[in-house]
Amino acid sequence: MPSSDREFAHIKEIFCSVQGEGPYVGTRQAFVRFSGCNLNCNYCDTNFESQETCDYEKVEGSGIFEKVPNPVSVEKLESMLQPFNKLHSASLTGGEPLLHAEFIEKLNLSAPLYLESNMTLPEQARKLREKISYVAGDFKLPEAIRKISSENREVHMENTIECFRLLRKNSSRDCFCKIVIGRDTKPETVVLAAEAIAPYVSCIILQPETPVGSAVRTPRFTQTSVQTIIELQKTLLELTDTRIIPQTHRMWGCL
Ligand code: SF4
Repeated sequence: MPSSDREFAHIKEIFCSVQGEGPYVGTRQAFVRFSGCNLNCNYCDTNFESQETCDYEKVEGSGIFEKVPNPVSVEKLESMLQPFNKLHSASLTGGEPLLHAEFIEKLNLSAPLYLESNMTLPEQARKLREKISYVAGDFKLPEAIRKISSENREVHMENTIECFRLLRKNSSRDCFCKIVIGRDTKPETVVLAAEAIAPYVSCIILQPETPVGSAVRTPRFTQTSVQTIIELQKTLLELTDTRIIPQTHRMWGCL
């Protein structure tokens, strides 16, 4: 990639809101939603396709979006985040933000960086080891990924564990793991995943798959019983702090 390309990124949305998931739920954050993803999860509800413009909500909660041409430069992004103050952190989300690791390396923000990643790109994760203060890392279980071969399942698990090792919790960084629990989830895979990454994280979040739109009334969302998730939590508590937290921003209807 030419060096000039690293100073630009395709971004879907920039806005200020509150974190809706995990142990930092309710904290005030700026959000930078990058375009592009390297996975194809069967519960994905995110439109991460690159577009000609990025939606920028300058006044938080206003619902008024400016259209900013893509790609966006590092300097432009820094200036667009300037109006947002009193932030807990700036959330880098997507899509998959690690696809833009070289761009993120160049960012100079006053707020700490909070990475929301699918944790499958270890070479990209390595570049950001000194840069990130909070890691909200997903463990995408192989059964949640469409059309993954058995060979690729193994590589996927190894890459995920390596990302958690590289970005593990330390004295200057928190790292926690989120696992979406849905209809296809096999409890034994969750336990294997948790055993592998437990030394690297402060806690594991079990996030029941959230129904959207008309799916709320379909039977699939009654198939992962409360009892199954509570039993999983009990098992995982043997390894590390484990909490059950659904997506709260969907209840509220905010970004
Ligand atoms: S990693 Fe996230 S954005 Fe990418 S396909 Fe999976 S759920 Fe969607």
